[in-house]
Amino acid sequence: SAEEKPGEMAAAATAELHFLLVPLVAQGHIIPMVDLARLLAARGARVTVVTTPVNAARNRAVVEGARREGLAVELAEIAFPGPEFGVPEGLENMDQLVDVDRDMYLSLQRAIWAMAAPLEAYVRALPRRPDCLVADYCNPWTAPVCDRLGIVRIVMPCPSAYFLLATHSLTKHGVYGRVAGELEPYEVPDFPVRAVVNTATFRRFLQWPGLEEEERDATEAEHTADGFVINTFRDIEGVFIDGYAAALGRRTWAVGPTCAARLDADARARRGNRADVDAGRIVSWLDARPPASVLYVSFGSIAHLPAKQVIELARGLEASGWPFVWAIKEAKSAAVSEWLDGEGYEERVKERGLLVRGWAPQVTILSHPAAGGFVTHCGWNATLEAISHGVPALTWPNFSDQFSSEQLLVDVLGVGVRSGVRVPSSFLPAEAEGVQVTSADVVKAVTVLMDGGEDGTARRARAKELAGKARAAVEEGGSSHADLTDMIQYVSELSMKKRRERDAGSTAQKLPSPAV
Ligand code: UDP
Repeated sequence: SAEEKPGEMAAAATAELHFLLVPLVAQGHIIPMVDLARLLAARGARVTVVTTPVNAARNRAVVEGARREGLAVELAEIAFPGPEFGVPEGLENMDQLVDVDRDMYLSLQRAIWAMAAPLEAYVRALPRRPDCLVADYCNPWTAPVCDRLGIVRIVMPCPSAYFLLATHSLTKHGVYGRVAGELEPYEVPDFPVRAVVNTATFRRFLQWPGLEEEERDATEAEHTADGFVINTFRDIEGVFIDGYAAALGRRTWAVGPTCAARLDADARARRGNRADVDAGRIVSWLDARPPASVLYVSFGSIAHLPAKQVIELARGLEASGWPFVWAIKEAKSAAVSEWLDGEGYEERVKERGLLVRGWAPQVTILSHPAAGGFVTHCGWNATLEAISHGVPALTWPNFSDQFSSEQLLVDVLGVGVRSGVRVPSSFLPAEAEGVQVTSADVVKAVTVLMDGGEDGTARRARAKELAGKARAAVEEGGSSHADLTDMIQYVSELSMKKRRERDAGSTAQKLPSPAV
């Protein structure tokens, strides 16, 4: 090939493996990919996380920290083609889509698809072809790039295996097409547990009007992947992992929870973004509270509760009597900040409530012994972070795969209590003003979660047990550790085969064509 002479092949085979990781430009996707980068580098691989300038800046501190530990992790920036699609300059992450219309979301998706060209140019300019590209499930536009370059492509879907298998079964059995409406309940066919769902709460990531082509690309790229790497572990999802691997007929490695891998305090506090609060201040605040007494409240990076719903939650938290830390990114909206200020809410609850108006150092909080309950939107990362730190969850899903994670937490694993949310708020009648959980519901659910008598004690014990298993899974001897070893081995062999094919191809091209 252009970059390797055949004589160098033996050396190349034993050289360190080079992985390129290409996350979707969303916090819930970049964070676990950066975690995966660390895990791969800890096994001796060289890893490059390829993302856009805004996202690279957010993650630079964590990557620099990993490099200081001697891990061969780096960030590479490729330009984001947003402006070509009418996306404002600097809007490069899903969490920046606040108060925009649906067209802007579709434009952002189109711009994401157009990252193929700068990615390909970046890879072609490298001195040596990487061994493997790990692509987010939502980045299927990487598939033709990998085909052209002859690189192994592993897909990383960011939700649970529970969600992947359920939505796969629903698609395969044509259920989505058969039902009368988005709210009609049905049972997931061919599923290891009984799960009653509906389309409003169980659609695939790209299964939206206007994204038909993108959804087709994703399904095809799923079926042609060289394998799947899933952020989960066998003790919580063994049957779903096996079911999904069998359904797709592809190699599947469960290597998580990536958040259970050891991180120093600084890296933990800087995960994903610079926090809008001093992590040290939060830690001292938590230090002053009894073990398992504090509720942590967060809805992840994207979901925004309607203002009326925020107010019900605020009143409920206040009335529950438990101490809480609330990552209230909704406070950036005028309706919510005016209410908070008008009520003097922050001042009123200050003895036991801490408001973070923006990005909170979530894992710093959840890993503190004072954390006793997590009011969560059930994003898959949040779900794994709750499980890994033994914190029982008060489940408050909004959309996407969040309702499936609620089922897993509450019905399958027994470490959660439902808030009572039933549908994404867009399905509520206008007069509800987005409210599904009243302040009285909040008090009731928080009481069950934090002080639930025998059931509560058992729930907490199960959560602690799962946390131990999560840590064990990613350590030497654990199932996720073993799966990562297997994945690296597989990539090493397949990459060598692809290098040989590339070399043979380029030699064949150089042979004079036979005379006719
Ligand atoms: N996160 C954080 N601070 C915040 C909000 C979110 O550190 O204030 C992190 C959280 O720990 C998780 C990720 O951002 O790792 C969000 O991913 P998740 O799958 O939970 O939800 P999403 O944002 O994708 O809905």
